[in-house]
Amino acid sequence: MQRSSSSLLISEIFCSFQGESTLVGLPTLFIRLAECNLKCSICDTKYAFKATKKMTVKEVLKVIHPFKLQYVCITGGEPVVQKEALSQLVTGLLARNKKISIETNGSLAVGFLPKKVKKVIDVKTPSTGESKSFLVNNLKCISKNDELKFVISNKKDFDFSVRFIKSHKLQELEIPILFSPNLSVKGLASSLLGWILKSGMPITFQPQLHKLIKEKPAYIISRRA
Ligand code: SF4
Repeated sequence: MQRSSSSLLISEIFCSFQGESTLVGLPTLFIRLAECNLKCSICDTKYAFKATKKMTVKEVLKVIHPFKLQYVCITGGEPVVQKEALSQLVTGLLARNKKISIETNGSLAVGFLPKKVKKVIDVKTPSTGESKSFLVNNLKCISKNDELKFVISNKKDFDFSVRFIKSHKLQELEIPILFSPNLSVKGLASSLLGWILKSGMPITFQPQLHKLIKEKPAYIISRRA
């Protein structure tokens, strides 16, 4: 399917509970956009690299209209790959008073997003194979509403992340800094707790809720369709 500035390549749309960020646990409508510019070795959404459906922004807004959830999370893949259509979607959702969060991999410029939108920005760690992908300029457009997330698979990832926080003075941004353990690595979560405590840094330990509790999302557009 071809990308265009007025249509969105969709992977899936569903209602479930937010599994990440400080919004964890909130009932949320998820719009998962297709395609990604990175190839992380630990990617758990490879199915989103290819679109299920192409929809105009108007069609997306229409299909989600019956669902009254206040929180909408735009995720991927990498949503910012579809920057033009994404901007239109955000405008439409804000006009409907939705509280929007966007999960982004940190490698593409996010300065065009309105401050009202919570940006949950990844900093890719060495075990992803994409640790050089972070666009440092993105740190200049971070607001108090935003969050930074590091997925930790081993001690090397942890040390890299702590160095990154210190060298970019991230604590001065006064935003949540989330360390999410790779739950497929046995024993890692409890090791991470110990490393965070020992560091003395105000890092939020955040296992992904949806991986701890297997929920059944209510699909509006299913990738299995
Ligand atoms: S940025 Fe996200 S969607 Fe893209 S390859 Fe990495 S984990 Fe997968």
